[in-house]
Amino acid sequence: MVDVTIIGAGVAGCSTGYLLANEGFDVTVIERDAVGGLLREIEFETGYHCDSAPHLLFFDDEEEAVVGELFSEFTHIEPHEFYAATYPRGDLDDPHHYPVSKQNIDEWDDADQIREELEQAPGKTDAEFFEEYMINQVGRTLYERYNRSYTEKHWGIDPKRITGDWFDFKISFPDEEQEFFGGGAYYPEDKYTDVLQSMIADCDIVFDGVTGLETEGDRITAVETESGDRIESDLFVSTIDPSIVVDTDESLEYRSMVILGAHVGADESLFPDHVDWGYFPNHYDFTRITDYEFVPQETPAGEQILTVEFPCFVGDDTWSNDERWYADYLLEFLDEQGIDAELLDAQVRRAPRAYPLPVTEQIETFERINGKLSAYDNMFNLGRVSTYEYIWIKDIVQQAYETRENILAERRTEAND
Ligand SMILES: Cc1cc2nc3c(=O)[nH]c(=O)nc-3n(C[C@H](O)[C@H](O)[C@H](O)COP(=O)(O)OP(=O)(O)OC[C@H]3O[C@@H](n4cnc5c(N)ncnc54)[C@H](O)[C@@H]3O)c2cc1C
Repeated sequence: MVDVTIIGAGVAGCSTGYLLANEGFDVTVIERDAVGGLLREIEFETGYHCDSAPHLLFFDDEEEAVVGELFSEFTHIEPHEFYAATYPRGDLDDPHHYPVSKQNIDEWDDADQIREELEQAPGKTDAEFFEEYMINQVGRTLYERYNRSYTEKHWGIDPKRITGDWFDFKISFPDEEQEFFGGGAYYPEDKYTDVLQSMIADCDIVFDGVTGLETEGDRITAVETESGDRIESDLFVSTIDPSIVVDTDESLEYRSMVILGAHVGADESLFPDHVDWGYFPNHYDFTRITDYEFVPQETPAGEQILTVEFPCFVGDDTWSNDERWYADYLLEFLDEQGIDAELLDAQVRRAPRAYPLPVTEQIETFERINGKLSAYDNMFNLGRVSTYEYIWIKDIVQQAYETRENILAERRTEAND
């Protein structure tokens, strides 16, 4: 039997593990922390749970049907309409549509000037950098009010330098309020962590951190681990930061996130009834608050399960606060908004590699490091952290199918030689 070792038990590692075990490979998954990766739920001491920031399962029913098929083998996925609002003045009494719609213009005193700007704006273009792309589409005033400071807060970099091929997918400017990502979203009946655990039920799981590779020519023979073990294998699949596995002096920067999960008793909801989360482009340290009413669990009346996202870099002031700071920040915000809230439980989740940084220098660094990894014939890599691409669950599941096809094709070639 052919051995495959998969590094990382997020959705990339688990979906690949499932597909390869089904093909008869002997699969070992090595995970440093816990199964689930970024999809691992926050569990409250009060017995409730929520995502570590909302995770919608969105995919095109026709072109990306495999995503739904794979998840449906392990859970029921329910279509769900997700709506978001944005609060450009930081005031919960003043929600504006998100995606920013043309109706939002009427919320501003200088609506006529904004319309004039829009008439002159070229609309959707293939501008390379985020700022130019946005101003071309929505004009400078709306960009300044909804996008510039939000984007800077989210990424920690100047939007003039942000690049990528994700703008078209992420950004729209509809005439009126629209579902998030234009619809086509699902949410699983079971926890993502349980779904991913089931995917790797037929794999061996080793809880250890991979620290490097043992190689012979253009082949990897084993991975080395934090506990001093070495795990030999015929094939390897990596879903983690490539600078950890290859021998390099360079490192990759990721945008990090501290996520506060809060179970609160509150005398009113934060958002309008149909809205699931709110964006905050103003001076608050957080970017988004989500209300988890869409999670299939019965929360008592007058209680809410929320997450609050604090973007940061590992080691900066936001990252380094003690756990109580984040809950106090939320309570102070709710108090400022006139919401009388009581904290029933708070849990803090730190995600050091939440987002690859969409800037040219980092992408070039990635390409140099990844070049070293792809020089090995028996190494395959996929997932958000490992490919350094700003991608979603649907993309990763499709990458898992491609990885299976690539591995099967290579086995066929070897068998023919
Ligand atoms: C705030 C936020 C909101 C999001 N919302 C959505 C959404 O609505 N819809 C959507 O489709 N996507 C969403 N995403 C993206 C989605 O979460 C990720 O694309 C996906 O979870 C990444 O999976 P992965 O397996 O590639 O990486 P990860 O989930 O990061 O998995 C990598 C695993 O490798 C392990 N690991 C790391 N280093 C080592 C080591 N040295 N040795 C062994 N194991 C190691 C980690 O512990 C982790 O378990 C969101 C992401 C964020 C941050």
